[in-house]
Amino acid sequence: MKIHEYQAKDIFKHYDIPVPVSCVARDTDRVRTFAEERGKKVVVKAQVHVGGRGKAGGIKLASTPDEAFRAAGEIIGKRLKGLIVDKVLVEEAINIKKEYYLGITIDRKSRKNVIMLSTEGGVDIEEVAARSPEKIEKLYIDPAFGLKDFEIKKLCVKANFHKGLSREFAHFLKSLYKLYLEHDATLAEINPLVLTEEEKLMAGDAKILLDDNAIFRHKELETLQEIAEDDPIEQEARKNNIPYVRLEGDIGIMGNGAGLVMTTLDMVKREGGSPANFLDIGGGGSAEKTRQSLELITMDKNLNGIFINIFGGITRCDEAAKGIIEAIKSLDLSIPVVIRLAGTREEEGRKLFEAEGFEVGRDMNEAAKKVVELAGAYRARRENM
Ligand code: GDP
Ligand code: MN
Repeated sequence: MKIHEYQAKDIFKHYDIPVPVSCVARDTDRVRTFAEERGKKVVVKAQVHVGGRGKAGGIKLASTPDEAFRAAGEIIGKRLKGLIVDKVLVEEAINIKKEYYLGITIDRKSRKNVIMLSTEGGVDIEEVAARSPEKIEKLYIDPAFGLKDFEIKKLCVKANFHKGLSREFAHFLKSLYKLYLEHDATLAEINPLVLTEEEKLMAGDAKILLDDNAIFRHKELETLQEIAEDDPIEQEARKNNIPYVRLEGDIGIMGNGAGLVMTTLDMVKREGGSPANFLDIGGGGSAEKTRQSLELITMDKNLNGIFINIFGGITRCDEAAKGIIEAIKSLDLSIPVVIRLAGTREEEGRKLFEAEGFEVGRDMNEAAKKVVELAGAYRARRENM
């Protein structure tokens, strides 16, 4: 689960990690008022779940309240990489002397948490990793011993921190690591970690990912979840307990089993199509669950086609077919639907579909090709209307 920068920075404050004075604003007036109150240069930051907001125009520095007001007007209500920005974080601007990268995540290979520190801050860490991996210092933490002072010292030497700064960094890192453990996070990232002109360390940005499977251990985070969600369809899916991930394309995908759905996404891509979502209806596939799933998929107004991929095991294809047909009829869909069935009682299922006039692919390849074709035609027709 992702949370917003402002939510992450709230958590930082509780752990004594320095962050700029700030407020969250949903309108431009609030931004102006904040800038007036502080009487300083401010930075206006879009609060949506996308990376690289800076480059995309979602981060703006402003020297005066009027400038802040205008900057907010250019961000609030606008789209940033496809998502509408409905709120911003306004902060007192930091006087940046140097930007570092600091992150903690799980290294699955070594089965340890790993701390990463880089002098190449402010840029995408993936970029640094690809271009100059030697500029990322890594510290693997032995779960039996935890984070040791001498290890932090070594890290500071590598980053060329002077003595005073090393002491501050040690405190900073220990707090971040504590927060990371106590929240069952899978990532805690500060990019940039800022060394200010005043020689202080401060979190310029904040990203925390929480382990979905551990959220139940943190009642206080459940409310965060509600607020953190940007996408209304994903929110609805979560309520109905349906694994759904919104993607950027126009072909709705559903199947039974996560692996099958992933493969379906790949197939559609290979045929030149673009999936609109990931949705796993799981085993059983009751008519009710099928209808809910279809309803979810079709909440996406970009949709031009639907691909339903069913593997019959314990779930019988003919049972699944009945559920799907009923669901499609009850929703009165006009979008083309392509089905692929394999496994237990496949033939019976296919006959049920064909009797209703549905497109059933012979195999996954053919079905993928078909749905891409039909979606293209549907899109063209929509555009001409
Ligand atoms: P991201 O692009 O989504 O990662 O957003 P960040 O919060 O990391 O901001 C991107 C960049 O904007 C930073 O690396 C800084 O260079 C710049 N920036 C952000 N906040 C401030 C600030 O308070 N003062 C100054 N001078 N630059 C800032
Ligand atoms: Mn950043």
